[in-house]
Amino acid sequence: MGGETYETAKPKSSYPVRSAHPVGQWIPDIYKSRIGQFYAGGQYEENNLRAMMNEAVVSGSPHVKLSVWHAPNLSRPTFKEATKHKFEKTSVGQSFGPSWSTHWFKIQLTVPSELRKKELLEFHWDANNEGMVWTEDGNPLQGLTGGGERTEWVLPESFRDGKEHTFYIEMACNRMFGNAAGGDSIQPPNPDNYYQLSKADIVAVNSETRQLYIDIWVIGDAAREFPADSWEQHKALKVANEIIDAFELGNQDSIIKGRRIAQEYLGKNVSSSKVYETGTKPLVYGIGQCHIDTCWLWPWAETKRKVARSWSNQCDLMDRYPEHRFAVSQAQQYKWLKQYYPYVFDRVKDKVKKGTFQPVGGSWVEHDTNLPSGESLVRQFVYGQRFFESNFGDRCQTFWLPDTFGYSSQLPQLCRLAGMTRFFTQKLSWNNINKFPHTTFNWVSLDGSQVICHMAPAETYTAEANFGDVRRSVTQHKSMDQDETSLLVFGKGDGGGGPTWEHLEKLRRCRGMSDTVGLLPRVHMGNSVEDFFNNIEKRISEGLNLVTWYGELYFELHRGTYTTQANNKRNNRKSEMMLRDIELLASLASIKGSYKYPKKDIDDMWEAVLLCQFHDCLPGSSIEMCYDDSDELYAKVFETGEKILKELQEFFGVQAVENPKSKERLAALNTMPWHRREIISLGNGQAGVACGDGNLLNIKTFKIAETPEVTVKDIKDGVFVLQNDQLRVQVDRGCITSLYDRLAEREVIPEGGKANQFVIFDDKPLYWQAWDVEVFHLDSRKVLSSGATKVVQSDAHQVSVMTETKISERSWVKTYISLSAAFKGQQSYVEMHSEVEWREDKKFLKVEFPVDVRNTEASYETQFGIVRRPTHYNTTWDMAKFEVCCHKFADLSEHGYGVSILNDSKYGFATCGNLMRLSLLRAPKAPDAHADMGRHDIRWAILPHQGDLGSTTVRTAFNFNNPLKLVQAPETLDASAFSSPIKLTGNKSLVLDTVKRGEDDEDVSRGELMKRKGKSVILRIYESLGGMSKGTIETTLDIKKVWKTNILEDDGELVKFEKGKADITLKPFEVATFRLQL
Ligand SMILES: [Zn+2]
Repeated sequence: MGGETYETAKPKSSYPVRSAHPVGQWIPDIYKSRIGQFYAGGQYEENNLRAMMNEAVVSGSPHVKLSVWHAPNLSRPTFKEATKHKFEKTSVGQSFGPSWSTHWFKIQLTVPSELRKKELLEFHWDANNEGMVWTEDGNPLQGLTGGGERTEWVLPESFRDGKEHTFYIEMACNRMFGNAAGGDSIQPPNPDNYYQLSKADIVAVNSETRQLYIDIWVIGDAAREFPADSWEQHKALKVANEIIDAFELGNQDSIIKGRRIAQEYLGKNVSSSKVYETGTKPLVYGIGQCHIDTCWLWPWAETKRKVARSWSNQCDLMDRYPEHRFAVSQAQQYKWLKQYYPYVFDRVKDKVKKGTFQPVGGSWVEHDTNLPSGESLVRQFVYGQRFFESNFGDRCQTFWLPDTFGYSSQLPQLCRLAGMTRFFTQKLSWNNINKFPHTTFNWVSLDGSQVICHMAPAETYTAEANFGDVRRSVTQHKSMDQDETSLLVFGKGDGGGGPTWEHLEKLRRCRGMSDTVGLLPRVHMGNSVEDFFNNIEKRISEGLNLVTWYGELYFELHRGTYTTQANNKRNNRKSEMMLRDIELLASLASIKGSYKYPKKDIDDMWEAVLLCQFHDCLPGSSIEMCYDDSDELYAKVFETGEKILKELQEFFGVQAVENPKSKERLAALNTMPWHRREIISLGNGQAGVACGDGNLLNIKTFKIAETPEVTVKDIKDGVFVLQNDQLRVQVDRGCITSLYDRLAEREVIPEGGKANQFVIFDDKPLYWQAWDVEVFHLDSRKVLSSGATKVVQSDAHQVSVMTETKISERSWVKTYISLSAAFKGQQSYVEMHSEVEWREDKKFLKVEFPVDVRNTEASYETQFGIVRRPTHYNTTWDMAKFEVCCHKFADLSEHGYGVSILNDSKYGFATCGNLMRLSLLRAPKAPDAHADMGRHDIRWAILPHQGDLGSTTVRTAFNFNNPLKLVQAPETLDASAFSSPIKLTGNKSLVLDTVKRGEDDEDVSRGELMKRKGKSVILRIYESLGGMSKGTIETTLDIKKVWKTNILEDDGELVKFEKGKADITLKPFEVATFRLQL
């Protein structure tokens, strides 16, 4: 051994032998909290990322010169009117008001030379209220929100020329959510809000800093919201902290470095729409949305401006973000834009053509679906789809209704009949009792028709496009067994606004994150709502079986909206009835003779009625100003309607009379499509019997038999008995203590029960006053006791008693209970008429009817049919329906016998066991401090009936809402005038609900769509009781062909028509439309 050399062993690892220093584990909460501080306002805003957002800010003269003109008397003048006036100098710091006033600002702006080369120049304006930027020559460019949101307008390139440029800002003295007092937006508006202009600056924006701000915001969300047991969460925390560590105040390189670090988590493409070009399968489809309540905490006049502000903003964003897609419903809002902002409308039209601005919904407004009549729902679609088709060349395929308070069981059928196979909503996520179990499902109508329904799993239509919204699109998705995709509907809403650039930037990061680290569901932009549904429809065609939901989508909240703002609801019912009469008579007149169908007036009336059915108007959840607006609109509807009816009566040669001097040549005008026999008042205490089945009924003298046909007797101290051949009614201090059916030999009121009993409840819901009545209100039930009853009418044809009920020192009810002589073979009923003086505070007035009938389900009239609901509280789903919606009647029947409660203007009802309860009046104080205060006139009736619920109830309820009208006819009037030229015979469950002229008939059309040759009559017939029914359309008109059509009047199958007759068969609860071509 020796001489050998040994090499030192090379260490296999560079891993140091000894620890250099201690290293601690990150304390997650501390490192997470630090992230928000990096970009938040507050004590560090001069040291953190915020301090580098802007490269320069310039304000005041000579670069920003401000002058103003105040529009007088809360007026909202046009640009032209406003800019005619002399503007006076003003400055930042000044305040403007009061609430709802408008101020026009002229801004003379010169970009300082040192800013001209800056990458991004914006004008920042903030007065904490809404505004609109106008060009010098009067083009509206972009809306401003205020209060730190959407305060920037990107300056045009042409402004960099060193010269002075002028533009205008129209300031509206309201915030996004109106002018609520205090911090609670549903409190009635404060009329005296003033708004301080706090900012009018030229700003050179540091765009990289702005981008980094969005980077770290979204990465920070991942650090905060991804599960702690995922590596993706830890990585996000690390990346975010590295960005913060790299930051040096004032050093632009540190911003660039931060952005590079962010790429580790977000990928390389988040600064452009390129990020969406990865071709991987997305799960979440982002759709921009701007929910503008057509009225709510502001009046319609403001909505018109909100539409222009919001939508022009979106057009601007589309120019800057090519992936941006924006879905907009409500034809009415488009129509306003077209009328008042043609410049913006053209811009929108251009974007619609490009496919970025996407009309959806197919309806006139996003309407309530509980309260409007069936025909109103039809017209929402007819007027909506016709507007979309005539203005944009296409109908909508998706019914869009994210914010309505419950969904009628007939909507799927009507959607299908309006060419729509899809339905989008989300409101059931607000249920406060049961969680709705599906996200994507087949929703099935009363008649079996279905639509694909999708309820966005992010559970909002105003998502902020946050990481959390994207994540919840999977974590809250309840239908992933069938289909895992979903819509993410984002953008500022309710008060308008829509997506902001921040939203679009955040979504780019979310997509980049999914493609880079994963875990977050992949969000996609650039598709449409229809693309989303097309994909599901395609999968259905390939065998996908969606879960089903049959019947109404009952909303477990906002049950007070069946009752609040009674006057508005009454106007809705009355105008629906009036329009029905007008269309029927005008159709007959325009077919028979030279009468010109008043299509424009009819359109105007319908559009007004449909507008008032908006989901905050008819339900009663708007501020007082909105009801001043709707009162005015309804008044106009009634004025026009009365005028047309008078013309029609003249055309038919009759004249309405109230107290005719002579009984000669009197007739009753009838618009119901069936035989009627009713007592009709001839004035001066006299009555006749109108009888027949045409539009004019003969009136016969009411014959007085030896024994009077209806009597009233005082049987003991203040207890009266009203009796006719069918019913014996015992009234004790306003309550019906016995209702004996003499034919059925059966007592209707259970022993000890009191029907027509007024009850009052404390009505203080958890928050949403006008909207909600909460389950606990039932525990506060108080019986109202009444004064002595007295007889007020004792005629041979009718008897009445009257009772006064004191509600409080300020409120009372005066109730008339009447019974008329009964006709053989026709069910008699007890009629109530109440006059109410209502001055209460958060109380709920109802009237009760305990009945001796047992069933676990009660029936309620809904649009074109009946919906059955439990009378018990077995499960939370049953109990949740403690207050429900009905139309003209509610019914509780057992085998062989039942009782219907009819009404002329009410919609709220409850049946608990055998107790039926009609809701009359509420007294919420927000958002309208005076809702329902004052005088009310209400009619209702108790209709007992032998047999199950049947056509007796359906028809009597129609008649009850449509009293005969007394008219004087000339002697020369032809007998044929008394018979209707169109009749429906056959099964009595069929109702001929609507008779109108074809929308596109050449003598009717207003030219929106292609005219159709000749004249036609449209009949809408529905099956009202839930059984297949046969009938015959019989007509004396010279009809050539009969088509079955959809509700848009597209011809479908040809119906066999011979000798003036067409046989028809309708399936249970089917709504069928027929077009009779002359
Ligand atoms: Zn809404």
